[in-house]
Amino acid sequence: MQSQKKIKKAHKKPSNKKNQSRYKQPKKKSHFTRRQRRHFQLAAGGVVLLFILALLVHLLFPSQPAPTTKKTVDTSQYPHVTICIDAGHGGYDGGNVGVNGSIEKDYTIQYAKYFGKYLKAMNPNIRLVYTREDDNVSWDSNEDSDLKARVKIANEAKADYFISFHLYSSEQNPKLDDYGFFYRGNDQVSYDIAQSIAKNLKQAGWNYNYTMTDVATYPLYVISDQKERPSLLFEVGYSSNAKQEKAITNTKNIKKIAKASAKAYHNYILKHNK
Ligand SMILES: [Zn+2]
Repeated sequence: MQSQKKIKKAHKKPSNKKNQSRYKQPKKKSHFTRRQRRHFQLAAGGVVLLFILALLVHLLFPSQPAPTTKKTVDTSQYPHVTICIDAGHGGYDGGNVGVNGSIEKDYTIQYAKYFGKYLKAMNPNIRLVYTREDDNVSWDSNEDSDLKARVKIANEAKADYFISFHLYSSEQNPKLDDYGFFYRGNDQVSYDIAQSIAKNLKQAGWNYNYTMTDVATYPLYVISDQKERPSLLFEVGYSSNAKQEKAITNTKNIKKIAKASAKAYHNYILKHNK
C-alpha cells in the first residue's frame, strides 16, 4: 500500500506540477494581463477620444461669449423724430419732498437723462430736446412762466413727442404705491405708449399697479396745453410711501423704469414713424 501510494504520488505530482509550472501557470498569467491590458487600452482610448471631442467642440464653438448680443442692427434707416424730455420741477422748484427727504427735482432729472440715453442708444437718429439738463432752468422763478416755458421749448423744437417725469406724493394716504400716467383723452398715441411702458415694466419685474388719468379730470398744463403732439406725464411712484420712495430713488430702478419707457417709445416710433 505504501509503496503503491508513493508510486502514485510520485507519478502524479511531478507531472502535474511540471505541467502547471511550465505551461499552465505562465499561460494563465499572460492571458490575465492581456485582458487587463485590453481594458486599459480601451479606457485610455476612450479618454483620448473624449479629449479629442472636447477639443473639437472647443475649436468649433470657441467659448461662446453670448453671440446674440453681438448681432449688429442697421439703425441708419430708423425714423428721424424729435422728442421733448421734461424733467419735472428744477431750479427754484424742488417739487415733492419724500418721507425720507428725497427731493423730486433731483430724481426727475435722472429719469429724464437715463430715458434720453437709452432712447438714443436704441435709435441714433432720434433728436432729444430737454426742457432742462441740470438744475439750472431757463425760466423765471414762478409757476406760470415755468410751465409755459416747457411747452414753448417743445413747440420751438417742433417735437413729435413730449414726456414729463415726476414723483407722486400723497399726504392723505402714505400707503399709496402705484404709478400713473396723465394724458389727453383724445391722445391715443400717448395712451398706447403708456400701456406699452406698463407692459415693459411688468416684464422687468416691476409689479406695482398703475393708473391712467385723462387730464380733462385732472388738468396739468404741460399736457393739456400741448395739443400739437402726443404728450405723456409719467408719475413713477410715491415718495410719500417710505418703501416706494426707497425703490424709485434707487439708481438700478431708475434705470429699469427709464429703459422700459424708452423701449416703449422706440417700438412705437419704429412702427409708426417712417
Ligand atoms: Zn412733480
